[in-house]
Amino acid sequence: MKTLIDDVIIHYENYIHPNFPSKKVTYSDYEREIHAVKSFSFLEFKEIGRSIESRPIHSIKFGFGHRKILIWTQMHGNEASGTRALFDVFNALSDNKDLKNLLSTELQILFVPILNPDGAERYQRRNALDIDPNRDAKKQESPEIQALFRVIEDFQPDWCFNMHDQRNLFNVYGTDCPATISFLSPATSSNEILTDQQKEAMQLIDCISSNLTSKKDIGIARFSHEFYPTATGDNIQAMGHRTVLIESGGYRNDPDRLVARKLVFEALFRSFFFIAKDQWKSGSVKNYLEIPMNDTKLFDLLIRNVQLTPNSVIRADIGIEITESYDKSLSQILYKSTVKDIGDLSSYSGYSEVDGSNGHITKQVGLNQKADFDIIFEKTATKISTIFVRNGYKQ
Ligand SMILES: [Zn+2]
Repeated sequence: MKTLIDDVIIHYENYIHPNFPSKKVTYSDYEREIHAVKSFSFLEFKEIGRSIESRPIHSIKFGFGHRKILIWTQMHGNEASGTRALFDVFNALSDNKDLKNLLSTELQILFVPILNPDGAERYQRRNALDIDPNRDAKKQESPEIQALFRVIEDFQPDWCFNMHDQRNLFNVYGTDCPATISFLSPATSSNEILTDQQKEAMQLIDCISSNLTSKKDIGIARFSHEFYPTATGDNIQAMGHRTVLIESGGYRNDPDRLVARKLVFEALFRSFFFIAKDQWKSGSVKNYLEIPMNDTKLFDLLIRNVQLTPNSVIRADIGIEITESYDKSLSQILYKSTVKDIGDLSSYSGYSEVDGSNGHITKQVGLNQKADFDIIFEKTATKISTIFVRNGYKQ
């Protein structure tokens, strides 16, 4: 069985759903593509609820085994790596009959792609009323979270996978490596005591993270066990359903997060295997706790040691972050740059970096302002070159 899983991962490129090339998957994109998945006879579709604006939320059921797994994606509407990976997972199951048969006898998996359809349609984190669904697990006011908890009540999953995307600024603690995939077995209370389910989810995460085939090159990290009383994962774990949070993250020269998408695909198939064979029991809490922590020491662009104005002698580093929003009328993602820090940023790194030594900025750069400025380099007595920083990108 392990060989079948390895085969699927080796041949990942064959299973990539072709129509989700960018980070953005709106609900319309999903609706347009879901017909391809509906043609798979081994999957069973069901409407489990509606969003505030009445968009259907689906569950997609696979298998008839006695070990139950629930996976939901895009609870935050602009975090689509999980959804993109699910389409790849469906393609891989469709193309691998032996694997499909084996997994379907051991597992029953309920996929819920795009739990927050209105947020996805706007390519925004929150739902149509600007409630963060991931802080609504206690009151359960939003229909999207009500749908999720109804499914949990009916299905009684043994394992839950809560799929998110994290911002580019997360790195693996103590390194300049982006955290391309991060895990958490959420806490169930503010005390330090680990519940059995929390420990078991840690064991599974140890199995997944230590078996990701791209491990040598890829930053793998974990979140802290800070307890969030209103968060989904924390509450579901407290209800006794083992819960694994997976956050897809950045990777250098990969603005569309194709690397994270592949890692999520692999993490899910590895999980299916470890759960189907009960091999997650071989994982250890100690190893989980040795996965390095997430840190926030990355900028999208970092300019080092640049003279801050033409006439001053003061030099500093400048850290720039780029954020995205979706403009529906233009049908495109807008990128907004912000100068996040100025000073000694020697403990930080950048996805892109400029050595500003021997250079100066032509006008003063302000904190929290848009990153639009020129850096003039005096390379030789006769030659002057310029780097233009426009909306956070060097040109
Ligand atoms: Zn999220």
